[in-house]
Amino acid sequence: TEACLKAIEGAGALNAFVHHTPDIAMTQADAADKRIKAGDAPAMCGLPIGIKDLFCTKGVPSQAGSRILQGFLPEYESTVSQNLFDAGAVMLGKLNMDEFAMGSSNETSVYGNAVNPWRRGNDDSALTPGGSSGGSAAAVAADLCLAATGTDTGGSIRQPAAFTGTVGIKPTYGRCSRWGIVAFASSLDQAGPMTKSVRDAAIMLGTMCGHDPKDSTSADLPVPDFEAALTGDIRGKKIGIPKEYRMDGMPEEIEKLWSDGIAMMRDAGAEIVDISLPHTKYALPAYYVIAPAEASSNLARYDGVRYGHRARLEQGDGITQMYEKTRAEGFGAEVQRRVMIGTYVLSAGFYDAYYNRARKVRTLIKRDFENVFAEGIDSILTPATPSAAFGLGEMADADPVAMYLNDVFTVTVNLAGLPGIAVPTGQDSRGLPLGLQLIGRPWEEADLLSSAYALE
Ligand code: GLN
Repeated sequence: TEACLKAIEGAGALNAFVHHTPDIAMTQADAADKRIKAGDAPAMCGLPIGIKDLFCTKGVPSQAGSRILQGFLPEYESTVSQNLFDAGAVMLGKLNMDEFAMGSSNETSVYGNAVNPWRRGNDDSALTPGGSSGGSAAAVAADLCLAATGTDTGGSIRQPAAFTGTVGIKPTYGRCSRWGIVAFASSLDQAGPMTKSVRDAAIMLGTMCGHDPKDSTSADLPVPDFEAALTGDIRGKKIGIPKEYRMDGMPEEIEKLWSDGIAMMRDAGAEIVDISLPHTKYALPAYYVIAPAEASSNLARYDGVRYGHRARLEQGDGITQMYEKTRAEGFGAEVQRRVMIGTYVLSAGFYDAYYNRARKVRTLIKRDFENVFAEGIDSILTPATPSAAFGLGEMADADPVAMYLNDVFTVTVNLAGLPGIAVPTGQDSRGLPLGLQLIGRPWEEADLLSSAYALE
């Protein structure tokens, strides 16, 4: 813990940690020492980790990367962080992220962007660690903490993991409680670990997840011993390769990463099967209707009364001006864009044309996966991202849709509620990490982690 706190102090340029909690860390570390000495040490006892700013942590600023939550000190602890602390984990601080988890580069954060510790060969220019869990990815990659929590609504664990050479798993929807996690798109949001290895991910996921009566969508299922399941034996497993993920204009390096991964799994005894997920091309548009729709509803609570920031009012301003000014000042441009898209697609005249249509498409995407699993496919191998980490400003300055295209390989998994893991398996020509994604059957994270272990 002391070494991590020191490393964090020296790594201000990465802008990964946005709230530091050294006192809490040392208190938790002392308590962990006592448990270890008493012979009562659960899996994560004494391990220093970072918590994404989207998780409510009792008495510790929890701002979701937004100005509107400035000064918000939750009265409660999220179930996931509580589970980690109960298992002896030590909180070093809160981690940078895109505002309300909307973004793929950590550049929409009120704290400014986190920076990827990796560089392109000798080129010194700063790269994005990805997003929205960019601070988590940067902190783990730079050894500022042993692991971190992330959340993934459309790829926010897997894409930053791929951009930083770390491992990130988004479990099945309902595996981790969403209680106390600031909501973005409630039917898509899931928490998960971001770690240095698949084994660490297995240990941390087992600690984070489990049934929680406080979240009605949390699954009442036993939590398997994910670590014990890590045999890495994939002999006879059927790995699906979906042809629709072979996008036009896919960089050669990504093609090669994918074919190398296929070869590696075949050599390890898996059966490689070509599959089709025909509705893949509609996933991104459906996601960018459903996610903003849910976000516009979830973000309605930030009205200047209940949480954080409230605008300074003029004489004669009424409650409407208070809402308007507070939300105009408190939300950044991307969040405002999503709220506008969301309220538009939910409005009386357009509800059927956009929102309901997107929900139907979502069902078709889910069925695509169900069909291939019914045919005996165990997991599906795809690239995690369409490129390696890009430069800061490179995408944010372009049109927002260019940024949305980053999620092309990851959003299907959230729409279908499936578990997905990003594993670093290669490098591009300039030495930047690249990751592959494995998609599993619902609730079969144990199997998914074991297959990812074979790929690592
Ligand atoms: N990049 C996607 C978005 O901006 C996904 C974000 C996420 O998974 N939280 O919506």
